[in-house]
Amino acid sequence: MIIRWPRFLLTRLLFLAMGLPITRYRKEVEQLWSFSKEVRAKSLNRLLARIGPLNSAGVEVNSLGALESSPSLDKTQLRNQSAQKQRNGGKSRFGRHTAGTTGEPTQVSLDRKELARMLAVRDYCFRHYGLKLGQREARLWGRPEAGIKSRLKNFVMNRRVFHPVGPEAKNEVAALLSWKPDYLYGYASLLLEAAQILDGMEMEFEPPKCVICTAESVLPAQKAYISRVFRAPVAEEYGSTEFDVIAFECIDGHRHLVNPWVLVENAEDKGCIVTDVSRTSQSLVRYELGDYVSLESTECPLLGSPEFIHQLEGRSINRFAFLSKNEKFHALEFARAVDRYQSVSDEVFEFTVYQYEYGRFELETSISPKKGRQDLSRYISGYLYDVVGKPVDVIPAGEKIAPESSVKKGYFIQAMEPNHDA
Ligand SMILES: [Zn+2]
Repeated sequence: MIIRWPRFLLTRLLFLAMGLPITRYRKEVEQLWSFSKEVRAKSLNRLLARIGPLNSAGVEVNSLGALESSPSLDKTQLRNQSAQKQRNGGKSRFGRHTAGTTGEPTQVSLDRKELARMLAVRDYCFRHYGLKLGQREARLWGRPEAGIKSRLKNFVMNRRVFHPVGPEAKNEVAALLSWKPDYLYGYASLLLEAAQILDGMEMEFEPPKCVICTAESVLPAQKAYISRVFRAPVAEEYGSTEFDVIAFECIDGHRHLVNPWVLVENAEDKGCIVTDVSRTSQSLVRYELGDYVSLESTECPLLGSPEFIHQLEGRSINRFAFLSKNEKFHALEFARAVDRYQSVSDEVFEFTVYQYEYGRFELETSISPKKGRQDLSRYISGYLYDVVGKPVDVIPAGEKIAPESSVKKGYFIQAMEPNHDA
């Protein structure tokens, strides 16, 4: 493996020139995670006492105790808070913006310290796979953005964007591998797409150190396939625009919480609630992220917190499949069924299940399974019968989904009309 030191060092120098001391903060991340829970709590308490972020009731939060008793903050409240801050002349250097999967845009502004902390957490995660932030990244994303600003950003970050979809897909994958990236980063659906193309090509290539899947749910069978084809470990990242990386998968398969300043709780009714105790540009105190996750603890010391995200259940509306108004089952069951089908038949494809009415599910797949969609639909029905104890109607949807996978998506879309009871 050639280490392209000059280019890597250039990126790190550019970070420093921008006032982003990544290494210093990464060491702080390592140190915080090396502490016991009690010592870490002391350190976070000190930080809160100094910063005193406001909770959604406008009360200063000066300790972890005060945090616990704080009300949660929803996206609308955050938007209002940010607008107010702007009027008061709040100044931040870096903006992050997302259209949001819920259709509600989120505007996040960061100062240098905050951006440096985020990048440091990323660097910390990457090191687990023998990588450093600033090494060559092949990013599988939506179509590459035009414009000088994104070109400059890609240059600074030492990355190139590839879009392995459409008539040029094969050339795109070949170009990607010839560029010899240190790692691949992107949406699971695009990585899967690229893996399938590569699988059909006879191409010699140097395996990357790691393939990082972000933003979408990915099945274990799909991950195993991506890993096999690219001859590299696959790590799942869970994050959001507001917090960047929240959880990162270790080589033993736990999605550990990795940002020591970001606290994650699981509220029964509101889903994932997240606080950044270090943030000063915005107050993100018990913020409702809109995702549902289940947290568990492990003895595994490989990365970050002992707490890890066991299940990623996605957006609230897409959590449950309904048989009738009062009968539902967890949409994760679809993923379990398809994962089992893929393991048994030794093939991979993407799928999405749509629900337009009670008790009836339409199945789409990116490519037809070897035995056809009808066979897969029957298999899922059979699996669900064992789970819910009654027949569940699963049918193949009419048209193949276009593999235009540049938006974050899940495998289950609950698309019933809001007034379907009427
Ligand atoms: Zn682990």
